[in-house]
Amino acid sequence: MKCPICRHGEARPGAVTVPLERGDVVIVFREVPALVCENCGEAFHDEAVTAALLKQAEQAVAAGVEIDVRRFAVAA
Ligand SMILES: [Zn+2]
Repeated sequence: MKCPICRHGEARPGAVTVPLERGDVVIVFREVPALVCENCGEAFHDEAVTAALLKQAEQAVAAGVEIDVRRFAVAA
């Protein structure tokens, strides 16, 4: 798809690292599926991926995690 941010690049399937912050908690998800713009580098996630990221971040916060780096898994 055409990148909506820079309007020049083409966004192609790839994987990115996504850092999330919740208050004092920092969680870094690796290998998150995304469409990545070849021009500006902006990454776009579909709704299922975004929902899974937020859910896993909440679970980590609930588990008392302060900082974590994990591999993203859709099924988790
Ligand atoms: Zn772009």
